Amino acid sequence: MISKEHIIKRFISYVTIDTESDPNSNTIPSTSKQWDLANKLAKELKTIGMQDVSIDTNAYIMATLPSNVEHHVPTIGFISHFDTSPDFTGANVKPQIFENYHGGDILLNKDKNIVLSPNYFEDLRQYIGQTLITTDGTTLLGADDKAGICEIVSAMEYLINNSNIKHGKIRVGFTPDEEIGRGAHKFDIEKFGADWAYTMDGSQIGELEYENFNAASAKVKIKGKIVHPGYAKGKMINSMYIATEFINSLPRLETPEHTEGYQGFFHLHNIRGDVDETVLDYIIRDHNKGHFKARKEVMFKLANELNSQYGKEVITVDIKDQYYNMKEMIEPVMHIVDIAEEAMKQLNIEPLIKAIRGGTDGSQLSYMGLPCPNIFAGGHNFHGRYEYIPVESMIKATEVICKIAELTAIEK
Ligand SMILES: [Zn+2]
Repeated sequence: MISKEHIIKRFISYVTIDTESDPNSNTIPSTSKQWDLANKLAKELKTIGMQDVSIDTNAYIMATLPSNVEHHVPTIGFISHFDTSPDFTGANVKPQIFENYHGGDILLNKDKNIVLSPNYFEDLRQYIGQTLITTDGTTLLGADDKAGICEIVSAMEYLINNSNIKHGKIRVGFTPDEEIGRGAHKFDIEKFGADWAYTMDGSQIGELEYENFNAASAKVKIKGKIVHPGYAKGKMINSMYIATEFINSLPRLETPEHTEGYQGFFHLHNIRGDVDETVLDYIIRDHNKGHFKARKEVMFKLANELNSQYGKEVITVDIKDQYYNMKEMIEPVMHIVDIAEEAMKQLNIEPLIKAIRGGTDGSQLSYMGLPCPNIFAGGHNFHGRYEYIPVESMIKATEVICKIAELTAIEK
């Protein structure tokens, strides 16, 4: 079996290396410190016996576990990212290990009185008796997504050491800069050469995802007309008032704080303005392609209405698509989801199949031609000081990888 100590040691060796990405940088990877872990991973893959280990000039890592059967088996891939979110610091991570979790509050930091409590984070209660790895309350942990990397490396090592488990060719891929939306950008799917892949980048045990939002960003610019307030009658156009009209004309209940499940939204996330000009930044999200399109049209229509009221070209709306729901790319190859679901069932894991209210690298990869559902990596409370992961979930995720490899190779 996969040893608990071994997996803890490996995970800690990853999270203690700072790999925070930076959205304001134009380099690839966005921060040079990501090389520290990337180089270590490339070396480690060679050490455990992986073949064709490569690390390119952008720090993308790929490696192969050759097939150990005679018959033809599709090549499958497993993908994770080694950067951590710029939302919270990833420098000087000091992981803490709590064995046999008692179900109550965990004091993360005595000096700063930072407590991880099941009264607030109810999910904790499902891990009573398990071993939790937490932060010391001052950094994120980086289980997102170094847990995924740890699981993939551990699964490959396990398959190498247990050649009685039959599998086809397996490719692994580790990327930088997922957290700033660029993980898939320089991913060479030709070179990767898999028929399909899985990102190991979900949260709690059992998660299996193949639906995500369609996403766009919208910039709404309102041009006003500035005139001395004392002589403004009939002349001044105050862009801020028109902006308010625009904001209030969109459905107030179709916003992130009022929606869940498959409900889409408009999200106003920034306003800056004066009399002369106001700019509104929105994001638009919807799982349904038709609704997604309709939302974009609502914005254009509203702008037209206000333009005809205040004079042409007072408002301009600039919408850019960001990513699409991978469901469209996965549904024609649903067996790749079924295999993952079957793997979980055989390991007594209850599959939690739900639509992601966000995007994944897998959605971009799916549209690039590599169908790529997402599987749990086991962590909770990503991107902040309360991030934690049960070691048992990491072991289960490692087993899921091995089981998927095994199921894919069954001769039909
Ligand atoms: Zn992630």
